[in-house]
Amino acid sequence: SDTGLLNPASVRSIAHQIGLRPTKTRGQNFVHDANTVRRIVSLAQVSAQDRIIEIGPGLGSLTLGLLETGAHVVAIEIDEVLANQLPDTVFQRMPEAAHRLDVVVADALDVTTIPGAEPTALVANLPYNVAVPVLLHMLEICPQWRTGVVMVQSEVADRLVAAPGSKIYGVPSAKLAWYAEAVRVGSVPPTVFWPVPNVDSGLVRMTRRCPPQIDRRGPHATRSQVFRVVDAAFASRRKMLRSALAGLCGGSSAASALITAAGIDPTARGEALDIGDLARVAEALAQAGV
Ligand code: SAM
Repeated sequence: SDTGLLNPASVRSIAHQIGLRPTKTRGQNFVHDANTVRRIVSLAQVSAQDRIIEIGPGLGSLTLGLLETGAHVVAIEIDEVLANQLPDTVFQRMPEAAHRLDVVVADALDVTTIPGAEPTALVANLPYNVAVPVLLHMLEICPQWRTGVVMVQSEVADRLVAAPGSKIYGVPSAKLAWYAEAVRVGSVPPTVFWPVPNVDSGLVRMTRRCPPQIDRRGPHATRSQVFRVVDAAFASRRKMLRSALAGLCGGSSAASALITAAGIDPTARGEALDIGDLARVAEALAQAGV
């Protein structure tokens, strides 16, 4: 059926019109397949009530799919030429949706506030080289989001959703778990992109959760205190937690005592601990003023 979504011919024609030379450093691979766009949009479960943050709208493939739901989209794009073209592309293909699009020209990592009302959803085909930091940053600055879907490199998708005990469980998995329940919901082949990337892609769906269900008797560890423990716990994967945290605590016996006070085995390794465990350790450190 004829829709406003982009196809290979329209992607090529817009790219030609603006003289675009896609760069690898900015992860510029553009989706030219309406089915892939529809799939991402339906996995995201967004509706006209949502205000969606999209990072890296590029030529607008996903942006148009999101606007089709009736939602409002705030699109953050680092590339000025792409950002400037986006409102025209939307106006030409879905004129009725043009007033529901806001474009912010910026590096997503530098954005600290989103214009207008609080975003309720995060949907993006992320620039692959900065996918994890950009994702975590957006989750941090959008406290009201409830649902999200991101497309990332396949291996990164697996790492983001990995559970404790898995070989690929690590800092990205633990930090994402602080914000969200994350599930891998699909794969996307290189052929739906122009230019064709040399990696497969994966889709991750996220459902927000309030910071982990930890025992809340003491003062709360802040997000940055928890992430400091996460970074230390995984800095040397083979170390027991008491050695990994020795630097923060002023020695491994002090670390041992604090970890034990948190109800965690100080000889455990970071890879065995879920975000609730790591947060409890951070809580014990915070209570001790460490
Ligand atoms: N969403 C489009 C699509 O699905 O066809 C394009 C996705 S492409 C993988 C990534 C996009 O992110 C590019 O448009 C690129 O210019 C943009 N980008 C790269 N780094 C960025 C950053 N730090 N902040 C915001 N946008 C960025």
